[in-house]
Amino acid sequence: MAVPFDTDFSVEHGRVEQVSPLIRRIVAPNPGRFTFTGTGTYIVGRGEVAVIDPGPLIDDHVNALEAALEGERVTHILITHTHGDHSPAAAPLRARTGAPTHGFGPHPEADRRRDEPGEPGEEGAPPQEERSDLDFVPDVVMVDGDVVTGPGWTLEALYTPGHISNHLCFALPEEKVLFTGDHVMGWSTTVLPSPDGNLGDYLANLRRLLDRDDEIYWPTHGPPIRDPKRFVAALIDHREGRTRQILERLDAGDETIEEIVAVLYAEVDEKLHPAASRSVLAHLVHLVETGEVSADDGPLGLDRRWRREGQGR
Ligand SMILES: [Zn+2]
Repeated sequence: MAVPFDTDFSVEHGRVEQVSPLIRRIVAPNPGRFTFTGTGTYIVGRGEVAVIDPGPLIDDHVNALEAALEGERVTHILITHTHGDHSPAAAPLRARTGAPTHGFGPHPEADRRRDEPGEPGEEGAPPQEERSDLDFVPDVVMVDGDVVTGPGWTLEALYTPGHISNHLCFALPEEKVLFTGDHVMGWSTTVLPSPDGNLGDYLANLRRLLDRDDEIYWPTHGPPIRDPKRFVAALIDHREGRTRQILERLDAGDETIEEIVAVLYAEVDEKLHPAASRSVLAHLVHLVETGEVSADDGPLGLDRRWRREGQGR
């Protein structure tokens, strides 16, 4: 089953839109290959409100968000995860409103990488939109099942690592809604950037969504998903199909990600091959974890050689 992606979605950056009785959304002017039309910041409730993912540090966006919040008290700032298009604007919003920030934790590599220069030009390095926010530290740590409330609304954290190890989704039971962050998006598959993205976790946390009764997903990027279980089942199918294709390429004699991408993504614009390479890497790392594939020595990365286990080579 093909994933029913919906890319027919237009937004007016900076305009606050009431998308349901309890939810308003304002989209930041950071469109891109990984952010689609930009980061959707959600405001939940009226009078006393929560803000989910204040977004990137772009003055126009922060100002528009503050204008939208005029006359209301922000009681909670919730962060789905610490990528640069989600959490940085939490700092100015917190400074101006006094609201505490809530999230699973700082970026998993914050301590190690804060002192290192970035690697912007390196092949396979994450694009700007998926770079990390190494500065965010939540005032309040939220783990799976933690709940915050306001007048007429409840937000419950679901711990959903995969895209990144500190990812949370937030359920709004009053509307049977799930804010899915980057875990499930209506317009595209989720990238699983190495080394912290993890396909095994991602798949487990997709399967977990199948046991829930959410009726609508509101992702950070793109349109809402109104038939979520079918959509999630298609995402799982898509990844499992890709895994089978990669195993077939290894059986056919391919040893490198470059060789695999050249075949599996032959029809895809070469500009997207670095992103495809990272996706194939995520699958291979998962296959190493499950014991189906092994790699030559060294950290699992784009330049390794891979082979099927138990194939007698
Ligand atoms: Zn992200």
